[in-house]
Amino acid sequence: MSLSREQMLVEMGISPIWKLRETVQAEEPAELPAEVPIETAPAVETRPSPPPVEKPALQTPASSPAVALQAANAAVDAMNWPELTRAVAECRACPLCQQRKQAVLGVGDLNPDWLFIGEGPGADEDVQGEPFVGQAGKLLDNMLAALNIARGNKVYIGNAVKCRPPGNRTPEAAEMAACRPYLERQIALLKPKIIVLLGKAAVHSLLHDDKALGTMRGKRFEYAGIPVVVTYHPAYLLRNLPEKAKAWEDLLFARRLLRDQAVPELPF
Ligand code: URA
Ligand code: SF4
Repeated sequence: MSLSREQMLVEMGISPIWKLRETVQAEEPAELPAEVPIETAPAVETRPSPPPVEKPALQTPASSPAVALQAANAAVDAMNWPELTRAVAECRACPLCQQRKQAVLGVGDLNPDWLFIGEGPGADEDVQGEPFVGQAGKLLDNMLAALNIARGNKVYIGNAVKCRPPGNRTPEAAEMAACRPYLERQIALLKPKIIVLLGKAAVHSLLHDDKALGTMRGKRFEYAGIPVVVTYHPAYLLRNLPEKAKAWEDLLFARRLLRDQAVPELPF
């Protein structure tokens, strides 16, 4: 091929398409029409290799961060439990990875009736790798005991974000959004019969709702067909002891919703 023809192909933007195809195919093979460069420029077929191109690669939707994120989320959606465990342990999808000692996926029965979702690991959880092991955790365990249930026995406990926010601050919306696919996959695999959201962060993460928590108590919400109830975070209850009675009411309400699902006994 003459140099002028090569230059012409570059001018027409055909050579960057060669580059582009190589890049995009590695990420998303199924999405691409296989013959793009050939149909656009039959002459390219006979070239031994793409010419060197100094221009930056073209930006296409397929190489945008939004599409990369979609692909990452789709990968999480297909994970089994061991894969999910590994992915969370190695995750660097948000800045919370920088100061964590370890990611904390959750703890409990993998075939639970109850799923409790908190905010994120605190200092103790970051060290021990288990949710709700500090003071708030002791209160949560007491609340479970009052219901005659215990962590690990038909109960799973997780958090909206899996890595400790520095200084125990509330996780930011973007951090919860980055971590949400893991939470969604946990729920899909665990298939709990009732979900209890502990505090505003969990409510925001799962229901995308920012209303005052007090206005959401005592109502039945739903996520993926699973009933969801909202109550105060145990750490809040430790600072506002009189509110414990309300949290107890909320747990009784959740237990009623759970029992309502029990298959009624057949009359014969
Ligand atoms: N608070 C939370 O929300 N989650 C924990 O795991 C511990 C404290
Ligand atoms: Fe990944 Fe979630 Fe940890 Fe962020 S908080 S690094 S999204 S596991």
